[in-house]
Amino acid sequence: MKHVVVGGGTAGFNAITTLLSLQPDADVTLVSAETPYARMVLPYYLSSEIDESNVYTISPGRLTRMGAKLHIRQRATGLDRAAKRLLLDGGASLEYDDLLLATGSSSVRPPVPGIDGAKVYDHWTLADTQALRRAIRPGAQVAIVGAGFIAFTIVNPLLHAGCRLTLVEREPRVLPRMLNAAAAEVLEGWLRERGVAIHTGANLERIEDAPDGKKRLLLGAGNSEPGTRNSELTADVVIVATGIKPNLEWLRGSGLEINHGLVVDEQLRTSDPAIYAAGDVAEITDAITGQRLVMAIETAAMEQGRLIGSAMVGQPRPYHGGMLMNVVEAAGLQAASFGDWSGGPAHGERATEGRAAGAHYRRYVWDGDRLAGAVIVGPAHQLAGENDIGMLKGLIQARRPLGPWKELLAQRPFEVRKAYLASGAAGELLPRTLLGRPSWPVDQPAPACVGETT
Ligand SMILES: Cc1cc2nc3c(=O)[nH]c(=O)nc-3n(C[C@H](O)[C@H](O)[C@H](O)COP(=O)(O)OP(=O)(O)OC[C@H]3O[C@@H](n4cnc5c(N)ncnc54)[C@H](O)[C@@H]3O)c2cc1C
Repeated sequence: MKHVVVGGGTAGFNAITTLLSLQPDADVTLVSAETPYARMVLPYYLSSEIDESNVYTISPGRLTRMGAKLHIRQRATGLDRAAKRLLLDGGASLEYDDLLLATGSSSVRPPVPGIDGAKVYDHWTLADTQALRRAIRPGAQVAIVGAGFIAFTIVNPLLHAGCRLTLVEREPRVLPRMLNAAAAEVLEGWLRERGVAIHTGANLERIEDAPDGKKRLLLGAGNSEPGTRNSELTADVVIVATGIKPNLEWLRGSGLEINHGLVVDEQLRTSDPAIYAAGDVAEITDAITGQRLVMAIETAAMEQGRLIGSAMVGQPRPYHGGMLMNVVEAAGLQAASFGDWSGGPAHGERATEGRAAGAHYRRYVWDGDRLAGAVIVGPAHQLAGENDIGMLKGLIQARRPLGPWKELLAQRPFEVRKAYLASGAAGELLPRTLLGRPSWPVDQPAPACVGETT
């Protein structure tokens, strides 16, 4: 079998290493526009907490020694499905028996005048981080346009670098796709007290060059009432974090079914059974709400990649869908949401909430007496000590009926531990493994691919 993987990010890397750990003599080829690395550690490289060498998940040399054939810094440009060939830039092509499409996503800038000018940066790729590291310096005024998850991953590095920070968000609150209004209000208050300027309900309309060499951002009313009146702000550096889109253009015309992303079934196969898709390009089922969506998060890409690596060597396991989870920490305050945190159409508005002094907030969304989603905000050192984030995630994942413990959580939302222990969620989750067995046999050392980047 000739296995071909396109994209060496989280999904592709996990597929290849799983595949080769299960069948070391497998014939596998990786085609990737970039050397394999983890985007989620880029904020730590931006803040210089780690070196560039720590960003990479595995080196080309190591992959070659493991037996993979490599086409690094090469792009796939099309598919000839009838001939089972992947077309590459430069005119070459590769034959496959099965193929994984794991090309991830790219950042998208809004089409406003001046957006492509000097001193305007993205933060999605390693190259973006390298450029931004050269641009920031203590005292610099930095404006981040878009106050979503990606913006929040770089709040700490920029504050630690001594930058003065302004967040600009079109929606009425920060993290609009991760937090409800009450949770966002706690976070916004915390950040403002620590000197971060926040403009919500503000739409970026134009970026201009000011005479003093700075950038001038002109803002109009965004999606809130009454909305920000026309206003402006200046910055030395502008970072655009307004959204991403799956890298699928090269597959238009391939005949594969594409909706929000590549539509996949329970085995993560696309509409062509010889072709799998994983990570930010795959449209999967949300295990909690049942909705179809692209779940552009690290855990989903990792799990799907591992399952496909196993399936490619004849050991398929069903994918039961992903669970949304996002955790950010900004200036010492942690915010997390899981599952059906907004209480959307699937479960109706059945939420309970609680607040406590010191910037603590909880919201629980119920499906009968099961926890379907949660939002949690609090000082990071306290949440870490309590481990409530982990326990709430476990309660949602295990989907255990909580019986009388639901009432306890609804009345006393900060007493998670009792409900977690009483529910038996830990016992339910502990034996669950993605591939139906430990990652490697317990009586053998870990495969050489694990943890080696040289
Ligand atoms: C700054 C930052 C912080 C993040 N933090 C978190 C976090 O804390 N938690 C979380 O859950 N998620 C986080 N994410 C999101 C997470 O990194 C992505 O969901 C994850 O990387 C998706 O994995 P993937 O394999 O689908 O795609 P990617 O990791 O993006 O890999 C795709 C690969 O495909 C290559 N490629 C693209 N097109 C082609 C082509 N035509 N031919 C060949 N190769 C191609 C790309 O160069 C890339 O190497 C973060 C992302 C960023 C940018």
